Amino acid sequence: MTNAAAVRGKLYVVGTPIGNLGDFSPRARDALASADLIAAEDTRRTRGLLSTIPAEKHVIAYHEHNEEQRVGELLNRLTAGETVALVSDAGTPLISDPGWRLVRAAHAAGIEVVPIPGPSAVLAALCAAGLPTDRFVFEGFLPRKAGPRAERLSTLAAEPRTIVLFEAVHRIPETLTALVEAFGAARPAVLARELTKLHESFYPAPLGELAKRVGADIPLLGEFVLVVAGNSDAQSPDEARARQIFELLRAELEPDKALRLTAEITGMPRNALYRLVRT
Ligand code: SAM
Repeated sequence: MTNAAAVRGKLYVVGTPIGNLGDFSPRARDALASADLIAAEDTRRTRGLLSTIPAEKHVIAYHEHNEEQRVGELLNRLTAGETVALVSDAGTPLISDPGWRLVRAAHAAGIEVVPIPGPSAVLAALCAAGLPTDRFVFEGFLPRKAGPRAERLSTLAAEPRTIVLFEAVHRIPETLTALVEAFGAARPAVLARELTKLHESFYPAPLGELAKRVGADIPLLGEFVLVVAGNSDAQSPDEARARQIFELLRAELEPDKALRLTAEITGMPRNALYRLVRT
């Protein structure tokens, strides 16, 4: 039971445009216009958005650096009966953006949480990528440092579902290089750029080709989402897990030792393991 009695306030989680103001939904406008308070990642940016609706609002900053402190304050206002709208700079709050702590606290306090769904770069990229969509994983931003990033990618190399990644423009080239190393140059992918904006573009190509083209015919300007096909060789969860264990051990040990330990951990025959990790 998460919904509260009517005397309490409400927390609206409001999706806002990721570039095209035409995606600012009537419901999102109404929620922002009617809220007593707007909790925004960047108050200046949100005031710009609010200038497009007839509402003079109290906007407070809610971002990753003050999230824990703000949760208490916002909860007090919600329990006092106020309506709070949570927005991020663009797109859907909580999706690689702050907010889950506030939503968790609201549920725990019996406050009604109302999603106002709207744009998100994740689904905008995925629905236009042309890669399988029946199952997919959203990995957000990869770790910035090379070591942790390689480790994350090695655990993803056998992932059979389509993978959606965010990346900052200046890191696109090195991320593509790391993806080629981890997944191979032939893995199909789509780079989506400037979604919903004037220069919206999709570049479907194998990872190796994308790595060569960025900065050449693919301009390194604007915002990007990377959609990567899953590994079609990864047949069973057991095999995927064995491959993952092997790849983690292989980063530290000689191949023979890594293979022997993987066989011991998983109980798989060494011959079968050898065939699996060779592919
Ligand atoms: N919460 C947002 C959402 O639901 O779309 C995502 C916020 S995350 C901090 C920002 C990242 O989303 C960018 O670095 C980029 O990878 C992606 N992104 C946001 N807007 C985009 C757009 N218009 N075109 C392409 N990528 C976008």
